[in-house]
Amino acid sequence: MGSEIVALESMSIRASSNECNLVESASIIKSFKSEKNQTVIHCAARVGGVKANTEYAADFFDDNVKMNMNVLNACKENKLKLVSVLSTCIYPDHLYVQYPLTEDQLHLGPPHPSNFGYAYAKRMLEVQSRAYRQQHGCNFITVVPNNLYGPNDNYDLDSGHVIPALIRKFHEAKIHGRDEVVVWGTGRPIREFTFARDAAKIILWLAENYDGELPVNIGNPEQVSIKSLAKMIGEEVGFEGRLAFDSSRPDGQYQKPSSNEKLRELGWDGNYTSLQDGLRETIKSFSERYPNVRGVTI
Ligand code: GDP
Repeated sequence: MGSEIVALESMSIRASSNECNLVESASIIKSFKSEKNQTVIHCAARVGGVKANTEYAADFFDDNVKMNMNVLNACKENKLKLVSVLSTCIYPDHLYVQYPLTEDQLHLGPPHPSNFGYAYAKRMLEVQSRAYRQQHGCNFITVVPNNLYGPNDNYDLDSGHVIPALIRKFHEAKIHGRDEVVVWGTGRPIREFTFARDAAKIILWLAENYDGELPVNIGNPEQVSIKSLAKMIGEEVGFEGRLAFDSSRPDGQYQKPSSNEKLRELGWDGNYTSLQDGLRETIKSFSERYPNVRGVTI
C-alpha cells in the first residue's frame, strides 16, 4: 500500500505507511500542524491496476474508506486545509456519461464493474469532503487525476498499472534475450497518462488557489491506445521482438477521457510533460536502478 501524507508549506513532511498506518489511525496529522504547515495533501490509498482492482474489491473498499474516515476527521479536528486525490476511473461507466468527463458527472451512474469497490470508496471521499465543508465549514477540496506514472512506481506485475508493468516486461525481455512481450487485453482501450511530477505541481497550485466545493480534473487529456503505448515503451527500452496480445486478460474500461477545462478556467496555465518525454525519464530511472525498484523481487 502506498500510504503517504504530505503536509505543505516551505518545508514538506512525509510519512510512509511503515511509519503510520492510516487504516488504523491518522493521529500523526496532529504532529504535522505548525504555523507553516496548514495544508494536508491526502494521496494515501490502496491502489492497483485492473487485475488487483477486480480481485481485491473488498480490500480496496475497506482500506480506502477507513483511511479517508481517519484522515478527514484528523484534518477537521486540527482545522487543516485538505486536498484529497480521486481518480478518473471512479467516473460512471460509458452508458451514463458524456465524453469528455466533466466534474459534474461524477455521480451520474455506477462505475465500471472492474473497479467498483475502489470507485465507490473514492466517490465517498468526495461526498465526505463536501459534507464536512457543509456542516463543519472545513476547507476540503478534491482533485481528479487520470493514470499517473513516473519514477518510483510499483513494478509488480500483478498489482501495478500498465506503464510500470510494460516497462518491466520489455526491460526483462531485452536483458534475457526473449523475442516476445505479452500485453494484456486487446490493446484497443484508450487511456490518458499524466507524469506524476506534473500532477504534483498542479495539486500544489490548487492547494494555494482553489477553495471550491466541486472536484477538479487535473490530468493530461492527451489520449493513446494501449497498443500504441506498448510500441512506444518497446522502442524506448530498445526491445526488438514482437508484441502478443492476451485477450483472456481484462481490458477494463474502454476509455475515460477527461476534460481539464475547469482547471484552465481557474487559471492554471502550465504545460504537461509529453508522454514521450515522461516515458524516457521513467525508463531511464527504472533501468539505472533495476532490480532495486519497487515491486521487483529477484
Ligand atoms: P486501468 O486504467 O484502471 O484499467 O488500469 P491499468 O493501468 O491496470 O490498465 C490499463 C489498460 O492496460 C487495460 O486495458 C489493460 O488490459 C492494459 N494492459 C496491457 N498490458 C498490461 C499489463 O501488463 N498490466 C496492466 N496492469 N495492464 C495492462
